[in-house]
Amino acid sequence: MNYWHYLAAISAAFVLLERLRPARPNQPVLRPQLANDLFYVAFNGHWYAVLTGTLTGSVALSARDLLEPVLAFAEPGTALGRMPWALQFVFYLLASDFLQWCVHNLLHRVPLLWNFHKVHHSVERMDWVGNFRFHWVEVVVYRSLLYVPLAMLGGSGSALFWVAVFSTAWGHFNHANLNVSIGPLGYVFNSPRMHLWHHDASDEGGVAKNFGIVFSAWDWLFGTAYWPRDRAPERIGYPGDEEMPRDLPRQIVFPFARRR
Ligand SMILES: [Zn+2]
Ligand SMILES: [Zn+2]
Repeated sequence: MNYWHYLAAISAAFVLLERLRPARPNQPVLRPQLANDLFYVAFNGHWYAVLTGTLTGSVALSARDLLEPVLAFAEPGTALGRMPWALQFVFYLLASDFLQWCVHNLLHRVPLLWNFHKVHHSVERMDWVGNFRFHWVEVVVYRSLLYVPLAMLGGSGSALFWVAVFSTAWGHFNHANLNVSIGPLGYVFNSPRMHLWHHDASDEGGVAKNFGIVFSAWDWLFGTAYWPRDRAPERIGYPGDEEMPRDLPRQIVFPFARRR
C-alpha cells in the first residue's frame, strides 16, 4: 500500500467516526466548500506523497552524497539507522513534529508565508476534510524543511513513511468534528478541541496559539498554548477572512496576488 491508500483508509474511518460522535451534531456533512476541500484532499494527498516519497527522497540522497565528507552521520548504517525500528519511529515522530511546529510558527509569523497559510485558515466549518485544505506551496515548504533534513539523518525510510501516515491520521483527528476528550493527555497530544482554538477567528489569547500537530507539548513548553476547556471559539477563520475567494481557481491564485 502506498501513502495514497492509507490516506483513503484514514479518511473513510473519520467519515464514520464523525457520524458516530459529532461534536457539532447540527453541522451538515454536506457543508459549504466541501467539494473544494475534497479536491484539496485528492490533490494535496497525491502531491504530498510525490514530494515526500520521490522528490524529497532523491533531493535528500543527492544532498547526502554531496555532503558525505562533512556529514559522517549521514553514512548508511548511522547510529539512528542501527537503532530498533520502533525507536527510529519515535525519534522521527518527535523530530518531524517539532520541525513542523517550527515551520507552522513561520507560516503564521512571516507575512509572505501567512498569505499561503491563510487558505488553511479560511475553513469555516471544521471537519476532517479541512485538514487537507492548504495551498500546494505549503506542501513544498513543509516537505523541504522537514523530510529532506530527516531523510539525511540516515534512519529507516519505512519509519519515516509511517511517521507521515501517523501524522496524517492525527491531523485528521485534530480537524474532525468529533466529541472526544483526551483528559490530561491534552498536555502531551493535540486534539480536536485544542486545535479548534488554533482556528479561532478572534484574537482571544493572541492570534499565535496551538501550533502543534501531533504533540501539544511544544505549545505548553514554549508558551503558545491556549485552551479554555469550557467552550469552543465563537467563530473560526481569521480576521479579514472575507477576502478569501470561495472558488478553487481563485483560492489557488490568491496568495500570489499583490495586495496592499
Ligand atoms: Zn495555522
Ligand atoms: Zn488546522
